[in-house]
Amino acid sequence: MSGKSDRPRLELRRFGSELLRDQRLNKGTAFSIRERQALGLHGLLPPVVSTPEMQENRILQNFTRQPTDLDRYIQLMDVQDRNEKLFYRVLCNNLDQMMPIVYTPTVGLACEKYGLIFRRPRGLFITIQDKGHIADMLASWPERNVKAIVVTDGERILGLGDLGSFGMGIPVGKLALYTAIAGVPPSQCLPIVLDVGTNNQSLLKDDFYIGLKKPRDRSDNYDEFIDEFMQAVVSTYGQDCLIQFEDFGNHNAFRFLEKYRNKYCTFNDDIQGTASVAVAGIMASLRITQTELKDNKFVFQGAGEASLGIASLLVMAMVEQGVSLEEARSKMWLVDSRGLVCKDRASGGINHEKAAFAHQHEHIKNLADVINKIKPTAIIGAAAVAGAFTEDIIKSMASFNKRPIIFALSNPTSKAECTAEQAYKLTNGKCVFASGSPFPSYTLQDGSMLHPGQGNNSYIFPGVALSVILFKIHHVSDKIFLVAAKALADLVTKDNLKEGRVYPPLKDVREVSVKIAVRVAEHAYATKAASLYPEPEDKETFVRSNMYSYEYESFEPQFYDWPSNL
Ligand code: NAD
Repeated sequence: MSGKSDRPRLELRRFGSELLRDQRLNKGTAFSIRERQALGLHGLLPPVVSTPEMQENRILQNFTRQPTDLDRYIQLMDVQDRNEKLFYRVLCNNLDQMMPIVYTPTVGLACEKYGLIFRRPRGLFITIQDKGHIADMLASWPERNVKAIVVTDGERILGLGDLGSFGMGIPVGKLALYTAIAGVPPSQCLPIVLDVGTNNQSLLKDDFYIGLKKPRDRSDNYDEFIDEFMQAVVSTYGQDCLIQFEDFGNHNAFRFLEKYRNKYCTFNDDIQGTASVAVAGIMASLRITQTELKDNKFVFQGAGEASLGIASLLVMAMVEQGVSLEEARSKMWLVDSRGLVCKDRASGGINHEKAAFAHQHEHIKNLADVINKIKPTAIIGAAAVAGAFTEDIIKSMASFNKRPIIFALSNPTSKAECTAEQAYKLTNGKCVFASGSPFPSYTLQDGSMLHPGQGNNSYIFPGVALSVILFKIHHVSDKIFLVAAKALADLVTKDNLKEGRVYPPLKDVREVSVKIAVRVAEHAYATKAASLYPEPEDKETFVRSNMYSYEYESFEPQFYDWPSNL
C-alpha cells in the first residue's frame, strides 16, 4: 500500500528541486507556503516568505557592497541564472545604476575577462567547424518561439578590438536590454556567437580562452558560413525572426548589411542604431544652437561603422528637408587613420562607403588642422582614439561657434575623445556635449549644473526591435531609423535642454521605447511595411499589453466546483 503513495510524492519532490534550478520559474524565497506545499518545495527553502520588494532590496544591498563593477556584473549574471524575473525587476527598477554594468562600459571589461568569469554558458556558440550543421545546433536551443537574435563574430567588440568568443557578453547584454527596456520576453531572445577564430594573439595564448584557438577565417568559407547561418535561422524560426548584427569588423558589417537587408529581417546596430541615436542627439542640439540642420557642418573623427552610419542618416534627414543629395554630402567631413577622407588621396584607403563623402580637397593629415580649416559646427568622435579632442581642438570649436556641438562617442570610457568636464570647462559651458559612455554632471561657476547626454544605443534598438517583432515588419529600412531618431528627439523636453541634456533621462528609456515602437509602427503601416493584420487601432495600448512583466505568476492551485455525479 505504501509503495503506491510513495511514487507520486517522489515525483513531486524531484519537480520541486528542479523548479528551484529553472531560472524562468524560480522565485526563491518568494514562493508562498501554499506553492511550496503544492509543488514539493516545502522545506527546500527557509521558512520566511519574501516579497519581491524584499528580494530586490537584498540584491541592491549586495550590489553596493561589491568591490568593483566587474564583481557587480558577475553578481547580476548570477541573479539572471537563478531567478530571471527578479533579475529583470532589479534591472528595470534601477536602470540608470545597472545599465552601465550589464551594458557599456562594464560589459566591455566583462568580455575581456569572459574566460575568467565564465560560469554557466549563456547563448549559442556556433563555430565555423560546425558548418553544415547550423540548423541542428539551433534545434538544440530549448526555446522554439525565438523572435530576436543578436549575433556577433567578436571581431570588433566596442572599441576593444577582436575578442573572438569572449564577445558573447555583447549579445547577452543587448538582449537583456531587449527585455528590460522593450519588454521582449526573454524566452523569445537568443544570443549567438559565430566563432570563426580570432587574430588576438594574447587570446590565442590565453589558457582561459573559450573559443577556437586559430586565426580568423577570411576565406570564402566564412561567407558561406554566414549564409548558412542566415538560412538556418529562417528555416528554424521563420522569416520574421529579427537578426541584429553586432560588433562585426567594419568591412564585414557593411557588406552583410547590404547583402542581407532586403532578404532577411535584419539590421546592424553599430551602423544604423548608432546613426539613429546620434542624429536624435543632433536634432535636439539644434534646439539649443537655434540653427537648422542644413546650416551645420560636421567633422567626424573616424570613418567606420559609426561615423559612416551617422553621416548617411544626417544626409537622409537633410534631403528630407529639401536639401540636394550633393549639398547634404558636402556638409560631412570624415577623418580616418590616414587623415581627411578626400578624392585622389595618395595614401588610398577610400572604400566604397567612404567614397560618397570624399571631397575634392587638398589632403590634410591632422584632425586639428582639418577642424581649423573646415570650421565645423559639430565634431563627432568615433574612432576609439582616447583624447583625440585635444584642448586646442575644443577651444577652436568654441572660438568660431557660439554653441559648438561636441559628441565624444567612443566607448568604453577610456577611449572617449574627451571627457564631459574637459568639453564644458574649455568652452566655458557653451558646448552641447554628448558621449558614448556615461560621464558625471558638471557644475558651472554660477552653480548651475550641466548633464552630459549619453548617446546610448539603448534609446533606439530596443524600441525599434519591439516594433519590428510586434508589427511583423519584414525589412528594417534606414528610414525606420530616421523615424526613430525624430521620435527620440521629440521626447527631449525644454527642461532637459536647459540642463544641457540632448536625450531624455536614461531612467525613462522604457517609456521612450514604447513611443518609438508606436512611431515606427505608424510609419510601417503608412509605407505598407508592417504585416500584422488587422492593424491595431490603438497601437500604444497594443504595445504595452504585449510587453513582458517581471511580476511573478502565482503557481497556487486554483480550485473550482465540479459536479461529481456525471
Ligand atoms: P570602426 O572600426 O568601424 O571604425 C573606426 C574608425 O576609426 C575607422 O574608420 C578608422 O580608420 C578610424 N581610426 C582609427 N584610428 C584613427 C586615428 N588615429 N585617427 C582617425 N581615425 C582613426 O568602429 P565603429 O563601429 O565606427 O566604432 C568606433 C567607436 O565608436 C568605438 O569606440 C565604439 O564603441 C564607438 N561607438 C559608440 C556608439 C555610441 O556612442 N552610441 C555607437 C557605436 C560605436
